[in-house]
Amino acid sequence: MISVTVTKGYDLPISGRPSPEVKTLKKPLRVASLPERIPFIKPRLQVEVHDHVKIGSVLYEDKQNTDLKFLSPGSGTVTAINFGERRVLREIVIELDREEQVVDFPKIADSDIRSLERESLIRMLMQGGVWTLIRELPFRNIADPKSSPSSIWVVMDSGEPFQASPEVYLRGREALFSFGLKIIKRLGIPVNVSAPDHLRLLGISEMITHRVRGPYPAHDPGVVLYQTKKSASENVCWYLTGQDLLAIASLVKNGKYPVERIVAAGGSRVKTGCHFQTRTGAPIRDMIPELADDTTCVAGGLLTGYVVDADSFLGLHETSLFCMDKGDQAQLFGFLRPGLAKHSYSRTFLSVFRKQPFDMDSGMHGEERACVNCGSCTRVCPVDILPQFTIKCLAADAIEEVLAHGLLDCVECGLCSYVCPSKIELREILRKAKHDYYMEQK
Ligand code: SF4
Ligand code: SF4
Repeated sequence: MISVTVTKGYDLPISGRPSPEVKTLKKPLRVASLPERIPFIKPRLQVEVHDHVKIGSVLYEDKQNTDLKFLSPGSGTVTAINFGERRVLREIVIELDREEQVVDFPKIADSDIRSLERESLIRMLMQGGVWTLIRELPFRNIADPKSSPSSIWVVMDSGEPFQASPEVYLRGREALFSFGLKIIKRLGIPVNVSAPDHLRLLGISEMITHRVRGPYPAHDPGVVLYQTKKSASENVCWYLTGQDLLAIASLVKNGKYPVERIVAAGGSRVKTGCHFQTRTGAPIRDMIPELADDTTCVAGGLLTGYVVDADSFLGLHETSLFCMDKGDQAQLFGFLRPGLAKHSYSRTFLSVFRKQPFDMDSGMHGEERACVNCGSCTRVCPVDILPQFTIKCLAADAIEEVLAHGLLDCVECGLCSYVCPSKIELREILRKAKHDYYMEQK
C-alpha cells in the first residue's frame, strides 16, 4: 500500500455534519433525469411526454457518441420535458407506477468474469447505463472508451463537506465492492483504490492501494494523481466513486439498471443531518421537506456543486445536499461588528479564537474587488497552481502560459474562491477556461 501525504488544502470548519444514521425514504411519486447537470454531453431525446418507460429504458443519448445512453431511474409516465435557456434540455420528469417494470440486461456470474473481454464489458456497461458513472481526468467528462488512460481510480471520499460516507454506503456491501473491482480490472488498465488514512473500512482494507492523508481536497482523484504521477503521460486517467463502483457491480450481477443511492444531507439549515437511502433522480423535497425560501441548497458538494430549488431533483452524480442560510440580509453597522460567528481564512475577524464549527451562509457580503496579491489562493491550492497569475494570463488570452501554469491540473475544488478576500470567483474562471479548452480540442 502506498501512503500519500498532501500538505496543501484546507479543512473548512463547517457545522451540520450528517450523522452516519441511514433513513430509508419511501418510494417517491416522481423522479427525474437532469441532462443539464452532466458536463460536455449533447443530449438527444429518445422519449416524448406521455410515453411510458421502465427502469432502464433509454431517455436520451449523447449526440457525439450515440453508444452513450442515459437510462430512466424509474418506471412510469413521462409527464414533463423541461428546457432551459437556449432550449438546453433541463429535466425529464417521470411519474412513477405503483408497480414498477424493469428492463432486463445481461448478467455475469462471478466465475465468468475472467473470460470477460474489454470490448464486450464496455458495451455492456454502456447499454446498462452505468458507463456514465466513470469519468475522465483532467476534464471530468464521461470517460471516452477510445482514450488511453494510464489508470483507473476508485475514490472512497472527496473529503468535502458532506458527501455520502463510504463507511455508510459500504456497510454490508463489501462483497459487491470486491465483485465490482474484479469487473473493472477486466478493462485492462491498472486499478487503484484510494481511501482516507483515518477510515477503517472493514472488509475492504486489503483492496485499498493508496492511503491518503491531508486536508480537503486531498482525496480528490486529481490531487492523488498529481501527487503520484511520474510523468505527464499519466495525465489522462479514469475515476469513479466507491458508490458508483457498487452500481456497476449491481448491474453486472443482477442485470438491472441500479437506481439505489445513499445521499448525505447536512448543513445548518437541515434539522437532523443524516444519510438517506433513496434513488437516483429523487425529489429534493423528499429529503429536506423543511427547505424554506431563505435557504440555499447545494447538490453535489458545498464548494463544487450547484444550487438547486426545493422542487428540483437529484442529478446522476450527486450524493450530497448541503443547506444553509442565504445570508442576504443587510447588517446594520456590519463593518463595526467583531465577526465572532463569521469564518475567515485570512483571520480577519475575532472568530479566529472560536473553536466550534461555523454555520455557513451563501451571502457574498460584498462585491468583487481587484486582486490584492495576498497569496491565499496559492497557499491552499493542492496542485500548486498560482490562481491569481493564471487568471491574469487568461484575461490576456495567453493560453500557452495558462497551460504552463497548470490549468489542466486544476481539480476545481473551489478553495481558491473560498479563501479569496477580494471575492474573485477563481474556480469558475478556471473551470470555464478548462471547459472552453476541452471544446476546442474536440
Ligand atoms: S486553482 Fe483549482 S485546484 Fe487550485 S484551489 Fe483553485 S479550484 Fe482548487
Ligand atoms: S486570494 Fe484573491 S486577492 Fe489573494 S492573491 Fe488570490 S486572487 Fe488575489
